[in-house]
Amino acid sequence: MRISRRIESLPPYLFAQISRKIAEKKAKGEDIVNFGIGDPDIPTPPPIIDRLCKAAKDPANHRYPESEGLPELRQAIAVWYKKRFDIDLDPDKEVLPLIGAKEGIFHIAFCFIDYRDVALVPDPSYPVYSISTTLASGSPYYLPLTEENNFLPDLDAVPAYILKNAKLLWLNYPNNPTGAVADLDFFNRAVAFARRNNLAICHDGPYSEVTFDGYKPDSFMQAEGAKEIGVEFHSLSKTYNMTGWRIGMVVGNAVMIDALKRLKSNIDSGIPQAIQYAAIEALSGPQDCIQEHNAIYQRRRDLVIEVLNNIGLKAQTPKAGLYIWAKVPKGYSSVEFATDLLERVGVVVTPGTGYGKNGEGYIRLSLTIPDAALVKGLSKLSNWRDSRRRLKQGVDFT
Ligand SMILES: *Cc1c(COP(=O)(O)O)cnc(C)c1O
Repeated sequence: MRISRRIESLPPYLFAQISRKIAEKKAKGEDIVNFGIGDPDIPTPPPIIDRLCKAAKDPANHRYPESEGLPELRQAIAVWYKKRFDIDLDPDKEVLPLIGAKEGIFHIAFCFIDYRDVALVPDPSYPVYSISTTLASGSPYYLPLTEENNFLPDLDAVPAYILKNAKLLWLNYPNNPTGAVADLDFFNRAVAFARRNNLAICHDGPYSEVTFDGYKPDSFMQAEGAKEIGVEFHSLSKTYNMTGWRIGMVVGNAVMIDALKRLKSNIDSGIPQAIQYAAIEALSGPQDCIQEHNAIYQRRRDLVIEVLNNIGLKAQTPKAGLYIWAKVPKGYSSVEFATDLLERVGVVVTPGTGYGKNGEGYIRLSLTIPDAALVKGLSKLSNWRDSRRRLKQGVDFT
């Protein structure tokens, strides 16, 4: 048999080397703390699970769901957006539930990108924006996110010959992996840019509720004219600790949503209905859990930043999201430093280059580690500098 070129051309698994080292260390019985995984460790709140269990017992939910989602769920999403962002959405035309945001983020490329079309993709970014572009036989054009530009793309720097073939612009704030945030002014400028250049915008906003120090992000959909040229992907994964249930949504421009709906009706047969009822409970029920979870993440954030500073690593304190984006010490590449941390002190972090070329010089640490493991991981991290010093003196005791 012969695997397609499409699959053969997928980039190699970047963490293969690190994964092998983790497996080796674990086999030797060594203790490892993993700051690499962005997946909430706190369970889904009980009322949401109760609703799921109840719905699972109803035979009406044992049959094929509708591809476009239960009307009650689309309504609940519209009401949530109205309450949270004061945005009006038509639940029939401007809302589409997804099997997790990732599913829709991948598939929407196939609604816009034909052979040789271009998608403007931030670098570093969530890898699905560029992979979906490539698999749809288009090309990503990377927009560097740097500390100097506050991790906001410089849209005016995109050359005209690129814009000629560009169909989509990807944005993601609060940002994974950099932890950066964007204000309404930036979103307004992005919409104006997209209109000038006949582009559609896909904004990915799953961290809008994971925020600290009282910060409340705006939705991209609040930008002037956003609904005429763009959509926003959102998810229940990070807001309600529901990554395992696979449910998210996309809202906004009706033409874009209709194209995705048409594509999806040929691929999947909707989201299991019991999970849709759980999502209705999450969006419509009491929202106190969000504050409670954010308090936990904020405490972890402060602990991680303190230890990073103590060992001489620079990192900005994020206002939102689940990650710390820290600079690696001079003399290391991202992968070298991540490997060094693992070998020397048994701590796993993600090298910034996993998210693109401009992630070089950074590592990402996730805040989704249970408190006890976090404390252990931080004490391991604190030992890194001492183990370095011993090495410099020519005696490596570790
Ligand atoms: C976690 C994450 C998603 C995926 O959300 P799901 O709904 O679980 O698929 C999408 N985009 C970004 C930037 C993420 O970090």
